[in-house]
Amino acid sequence: MDELDELYQEIILDHNKRPRGRGELPGATHTAQGDNPLCGDEIRVFVRLEGDKIADVKFIGEGCAISKASASLMTQAVRGKTVAQAKEQIQKIHDMFTGQGCCEHTSFDTDGEIAALGGVKKFPQRVKCATLAWHALDAALDGKPNVSTE
Ligand code: ZN
Repeated sequence: MDELDELYQEIILDHNKRPRGRGELPGATHTAQGDNPLCGDEIRVFVRLEGDKIADVKFIGEGCAISKASASLMTQAVRGKTVAQAKEQIQKIHDMFTGQGCCEHTSFDTDGEIAALGGVKKFPQRVKCATLAWHALDAALDGKPNVSTE
């Protein structure tokens, strides 16, 4: 395991142990339930929009370490951003796992802690765990009540 892998693993473990943005969000304007039947992860995302800005975002739910760490990283990454910026971030995460588009390669320098999710690419069966919270955020922003990775 190289140094970067170790750093990424530490970030995932830390966010799993001490999730940021966990809990219900009173006054949420948008919410969606994300299910990953493959692993049994269930993440509900709450968003409070003010105009086109994500004033706050939180999540509840249960799942494996990767799904929870990803949800935690997601709330940290998009809080305070505009809907357009959040959509860009969602696309970037998607591209990171599918290897398409301009943003296949993330780095810790430019992307911060969410680059750690890229480490999950080495475990294809866990990719849906890593993308679940982002799918749920996307659904919430689109006004869809739920989304499944199946
Ligand atoms: Zn999982």
